[in-house]
Amino acid sequence: MNVDVESDGESSDSIDANNGLEIAARTGPNVAPFSINNPTEGPPDSTFDLTLPATHSYLGNNLEELRGRTILDDGIYMNLPLLVKQSIIFPGQTLPMTIFDKPTIDMLQKCIQSDRTFGVICLNYNEKVAIGTTAEIYQYMEGNEAEGFRVKAKGRQRFKILQVIQGYGKRSANVKILPEITLGHPFLDARLASLDNLRLTPKNLEEERKLDRIERMDAAVTPWPAWVYKQYDPRRLSLKIKQYLQFIETRGSNIPEDPVELSFWIPHNLLLDDSQRIMLLNYDCAISRLQRELAYLDKDRIFECRNCSSMICKQSDMFPMSKEGPQSAYCNLGGVIHETITVYKAYNLVQSREPASTEYSWFPGYAWTIALCTGCGMHIGWLFTAVQKGLRPEAVWGLTRKSLRSRTRRNKKRSESPGY
Ligand SMILES: [Zn+2]
Repeated sequence: MNVDVESDGESSDSIDANNGLEIAARTGPNVAPFSINNPTEGPPDSTFDLTLPATHSYLGNNLEELRGRTILDDGIYMNLPLLVKQSIIFPGQTLPMTIFDKPTIDMLQKCIQSDRTFGVICLNYNEKVAIGTTAEIYQYMEGNEAEGFRVKAKGRQRFKILQVIQGYGKRSANVKILPEITLGHPFLDARLASLDNLRLTPKNLEEERKLDRIERMDAAVTPWPAWVYKQYDPRRLSLKIKQYLQFIETRGSNIPEDPVELSFWIPHNLLLDDSQRIMLLNYDCAISRLQRELAYLDKDRIFECRNCSSMICKQSDMFPMSKEGPQSAYCNLGGVIHETITVYKAYNLVQSREPASTEYSWFPGYAWTIALCTGCGMHIGWLFTAVQKGLRPEAVWGLTRKSLRSRTRRNKKRSESPGY
């Protein structure tokens, strides 16, 4: 049985309402039919400790802690050792890694002995990407040959790549550390100072309406109406974004209050395409990033298989399994990093017949099996099922970002197109 996603019937999207039965009919010999939730049900309760995944405990509990923080001056030119990854990272993003190749281990060991900082870039995109992010190591373990060199690092500052230098297995780059430009409130100079004691930072709709009235008075003495200024107010933009993402906060994740942090949190927690992520990392100011992100969130989106366009889930199905947000980077046994988004409902997926494993599980208390697209058989992610009694949700899907793309539900317009 199929039902339309769209209530107005304009879309051709369809979801298997009786997911298990539909999948059983298309299942090959190597996959097992499975459905974890009735599509008509809402999000499940959670008893899972959302602080656990952010610790990346699957890398081991005996990693050495590094203290201190390196802040590089804006605008300085320097040479950075480089790590090339499959995608860019953002300031604030956690990067867990298991490294097996010696040149990279040597590079990271040298970093640990100096300022713990290296550069992360991506050379896999079609377009030339001249931007990257510094990462600072905060925990590491020199494991044996089988365990690999284990590192947890945090994205810190953006940099512009001036020249990549390659030699003898080492790669570095001459870079310029990019500034983060913070603009004052758009009304700062034109405001009516007599109203200052009435101004507040709005945290809900009622407070926002109060501030609206004051800012309409401010705007009356300027050439532009108040709504123009609101588009350049980072606090207002942040508040609107948080209203869109309220469902994520009610499911347990923390969403940053600070506009700069939020502007970097969005691209590593929502399913943006590589070109969108690069564009956002290129902006020097949170206002520009928040404006673009708001335009993205303004549309109702679904996630589909990147290979065959089968619908996999809706954006509103996101179910954070980490305090840091619904999408995080996790490292597998082979050292491959998967940016993984967790959802409580998914369609057109089947789990492989391999037995569920708790080894290296990113979510303590859950066992994983591989999940494949029923349309083309491509690996989309994993099904995590609870193995501890009383642990809820009983199951959750973890979907790897590189297997998915988002599109708006109404007109099938690809998110890569300008003005998303
Ligand atoms: Zn597919």
